[in-house]
Amino acid sequence: MWDKPRCTFCEKEIKGDEVVFVKMRYPKRKGFTEVKAYLRNEGTFICEECFNQKLK
Ligand SMILES: [Zn+2]
Repeated sequence: MWDKPRCTFCEKEIKGDEVVFVKMRYPKRKGFTEVKAYLRNEGTFICEECFNQKLK
């Protein structure tokens, strides 16, 4: 099962339907299945609030 994703900066739990930004290294081999697996292991989630703050 997928761990509950949390924002890297404020550690707020990401809820379903929320807008999130994901920072990740794109896998060398192409393919969506691999990207999904990659997200689970390597993805870093940033909530919209923190993302907007970073832009200021
Ligand atoms: Zn946040």
